[in-house]
Amino acid sequence: MSTTNLAVTYQDIAAAAKRLEGIARKTPVLTSGQADKQANATVFFKCENFQRVGAFKFRGAYNAISSLSEAQKQQGVVAFSSGNHAQGIALAARMLGVHATIVMPSNAPAMKLAATREYGAEVILYDREREDREVIAARLSSERGCATIPAYDHPDVIAGQGTVAKELIDEVGALDYLFVCTGGGGLLSGCAIAAAHLSPGCIVIGVEPEAGNDAQQSLRSGEIVHIAVPDTIADGAQTQHIGKLVLPILQAYVKDIITVSDGQLRTQMRFFAERMKIVVEPAGCLAAAAVMHRAFDFDGAKVGVIVSGGNVDMESFGRNIALAKPYS
Ligand SMILES: *Cc1c(COP(=O)(O)O)cnc(C)c1O
Repeated sequence: MSTTNLAVTYQDIAAAAKRLEGIARKTPVLTSGQADKQANATVFFKCENFQRVGAFKFRGAYNAISSLSEAQKQQGVVAFSSGNHAQGIALAARMLGVHATIVMPSNAPAMKLAATREYGAEVILYDREREDREVIAARLSSERGCATIPAYDHPDVIAGQGTVAKELIDEVGALDYLFVCTGGGGLLSGCAIAAAHLSPGCIVIGVEPEAGNDAQQSLRSGEIVHIAVPDTIADGAQTQHIGKLVLPILQAYVKDIITVSDGQLRTQMRFFAERMKIVVEPAGCLAAAAVMHRAFDFDGAKVGVIVSGGNVDMESFGRNIALAKPYS
């Protein structure tokens, strides 16, 4: 597949890495003898649950806002999100002295509303049943003239997310496989570009929830497939379709997209807590669950796994852990 005319190049990721230096955390790469045994491979977990705001979204948000012109920064930014993107934008905007407006559904979890306000953003609530996000977006941008920063379908966001794989490969060297959690595909497309450049021959695989395999359908059919909001515990990957800029990047650099079940995600959450002593949200377990359930025959290979985030309220964490079957 052609790599010309893609929205993002490796140079964009290298530039994003420069902007993020000393700003984003250089997150740890963890290993586990138990994980290696279970996967029958050498596995490196890149732990973005330790990133600022608890997920990789801070990288793309900061890269996108810092790339705006001074005039655009004066006007502020707007984002639509009830999840980690909201907090990433809120914190990045505050660090850059830019006003952020976050549009969130009025039934978003109270914890997420509070966290977004704590990072200094103005939160505008809307009724998911009765109001249209697009109408609200159009009104905000005409009233305030501010730039909208989408959660994944934006070149500077994709470039920022790609710095996750760049850091991982810079630290551990070339990989045979790289598994990446997938929702709208911003993280996957950025990481795939970085891997193609820094570790040629590395096989890049996206992993999404079984209940919402739109990215898999889209990559396999070559057209963006839209689905209803998927019923899965992986709330960070409950997207209904991948991005327009994302699809051609996946076609150029991603071998396949596979799925895991909610049960497999629970088992992985438990493994991370019990064996590796880390709290990982369900969406953050997607890539690891595929590897630990041996979705591929990668015996003896060197495998990178992106752990995308750790934001989960302790009540639902407890419920999921209680329901989890251990690896046997
Ligand atoms: C946003 C998010 C994802 C999905 O990322 P995309 O770029 O939309 O594919 C996965 N995991 C976590 C924790 C997230 O916040």
